[in-house]
Amino acid sequence: MTDGARVATRPGATSREAATHCPYCALQCGMTLRETDGRTEVLPRQFPTNRGGLCQKGWTAAELLDHPERLTTPLVRDPVTGEQRPASWDEALDRVAAGIRTVQSGHGRDAVAVFGGGGLTNEKAYALGKFARVALRTRHIDYNGRWCMSSAAAAGIRAFGVDRGLPFPLEDLARAETLLLVGANPAETMPPLLRHLTDQRQRGGRLIVIDPRVTATARQADLHLQPLPGTDLAVANALLHIALTEGWLDREYLATRTTGFDAVRRTVAGYWPAEVERLSGVPVADLEATARALATAGSAIILTARGAEQHAKGVDTVTAFVNLALALGLPGRPGSGYGCLTGQGNGQGGREHGQKADQLPGYRKIDDPAARAHVAGVWGVPADDLPGPGVPAYRLLDSLGTADGPRALLVFGSNPVVSAPRAARIESRLRDLDLLVVADFLRSETAALADVVLPVAQWAEEDGTMTNLEGRVLRRRALREPPPGVRTDLAVLAGLATRLDAPVDFPTDPRTVFTELRRASAGGPADYAGVTWDRIDAASGVFWPCPDPDGPDTPRLFADRFPTPDGRARFHPVTHRPAAEEVCADYPLHFTTGRVLAQYQSGTQTRRVAALRRAAPGAFVELHPDLAARLGVTDGEEVRVVSRRGELRAPARVSPTIRPDTVFAPFHWAGAARANSVTNDAVDPVSGMPEFKICAVRVERVES
Ligand code: SF4
Repeated sequence: MTDGARVATRPGATSREAATHCPYCALQCGMTLRETDGRTEVLPRQFPTNRGGLCQKGWTAAELLDHPERLTTPLVRDPVTGEQRPASWDEALDRVAAGIRTVQSGHGRDAVAVFGGGGLTNEKAYALGKFARVALRTRHIDYNGRWCMSSAAAAGIRAFGVDRGLPFPLEDLARAETLLLVGANPAETMPPLLRHLTDQRQRGGRLIVIDPRVTATARQADLHLQPLPGTDLAVANALLHIALTEGWLDREYLATRTTGFDAVRRTVAGYWPAEVERLSGVPVADLEATARALATAGSAIILTARGAEQHAKGVDTVTAFVNLALALGLPGRPGSGYGCLTGQGNGQGGREHGQKADQLPGYRKIDDPAARAHVAGVWGVPADDLPGPGVPAYRLLDSLGTADGPRALLVFGSNPVVSAPRAARIESRLRDLDLLVVADFLRSETAALADVVLPVAQWAEEDGTMTNLEGRVLRRRALREPPPGVRTDLAVLAGLATRLDAPVDFPTDPRTVFTELRRASAGGPADYAGVTWDRIDAASGVFWPCPDPDGPDTPRLFADRFPTPDGRARFHPVTHRPAAEEVCADYPLHFTTGRVLAQYQSGTQTRRVAALRRAAPGAFVELHPDLAARLGVTDGEEVRVVSRRGELRAPARVSPTIRPDTVFAPFHWAGAARANSVTNDAVDPVSGMPEFKICAVRVERVES
């Protein structure tokens, strides 16, 4: 059943509406879906995050519901022809179950792996984690959110004791006298968020942006620092060095609310602004102006995003900015703090309920005996039957089909053939599997490699919850039933669990799953026990932690204490180190990747939307005019970007908005234009985040 309410729009018309949220990014803009006489339209809806705004992606989201490339029947690979062909659900699920049994009986339980996605609802993410641990009993589950927010998550946990992207509502941005964005480009990734930045500016606030490119967001800033990619950590330490030297630290806050500053003080003492200018290219005057603006403001907020995080030192880079925020006494103060701008639609909820290799629902650790006992009790299985921790996403994918790695993979809501670093290698690993199963509603590049493709429902066809970048739990409401031939992910998991003789039930009703999730999360760091669908419906969402159905939720964290054993935030000294791959004579340029306004992630969805394809039809390579002149490349000419791992080909876009020593390409496209053919698979040792944001390349003209 759906919650789509029937409404009368004009006499004789058959119409219904659902108040829901955009299927794409973590801003989770409010929208109303209206279906009239079989035609579905998107209407913007007032919600605290988007305030009635939508970007192009949201406006056009309904186009995929009836898209001609929509999958409406399972596909199985024919052993004779080698091609995918239509199949019944029974044949497809039987084949998956038989394949899993064969692989596990020959190679052990861990020979089957699961790969999830940051776009899955909380209910699906929870059910997927339970399915892996209880039905498959494999330790191998991880998800593509590992490539999105994992560095900020790890930095937040070690400093604050908890990972909630923003520990305050977005509306607090307007109250910040100084707002520092590090490696964030919301003008292109989540444009309605700019309404909050506009408010902040209209109240007299300052916006400072740190980004190697002159992005659409940087153009709006009062001050733009344009460091060499990979030097953000040094910049943060220099800012703290200046604040320390100038006596701008909040001494009382340091003494009463934090531990460990002395080690950080000793570390940042060596980050002389002049030396950091030589390293990063950021002028000393800009470093000083930024430190002053943050330290002398009545309120200040520091936000990081993928530009700071997607490095092999991403956790330490975010930690450097957290250290700066703590030293200035920002976290927990009204209108102030540190936060991370989460990227994927349910990137936050997806990392709370069991999709991560080391995690159980409620953000519990899978190696914690008490957590295992609690969750096993909710699931109705012995705690000893739960597997231990697996490995992070890239390590998992890179082990597929190898002597020690899984031989079967189930993918839900992800397209690693385009989104994984060093993607050609991962594509080859996927081809080496005995069994690849993909549940999706479009035939992504990963689905095209699969032995079995399972067509699943889209966002407007099923109910559930999402947790946005603020830690606000929202209701996704269905407008209509899935089309004939399509099942929900929950139904797919239930069908497989039955065939695998799982010891417990896998409910298909999302409200029932959420009720179970609440019990599983109770008492954990991300406690949803007091969150009910009715309560979300009655307000504009519910902020976790919310342990009691009759008690308050928590829009703002850290006002009085941090959720650490002693209630204090923890400093960690961090030092700059070079990128995993430095430029050299053969590869003399830095390569960095990112997004464009009209496309989303691996492009499986947005590349199929006509208006978005017109707005952003293909990849490009952004080059500074000086570099283009040196290479003899003209605007629009096809170029080749070559790294030690592979190459991409795309037209040059000559622009002064990028540093002369750096080239940029968006990562939404497949085939020859795949940016991740080039990227480095070095990962952060703590978070497992790959170094998407910097590697060494050369650029060549492609002779006609
Ligand atoms: Fe959707 Fe994000 Fe665009 Fe809002 S900003 S409409 S959530 S893609």
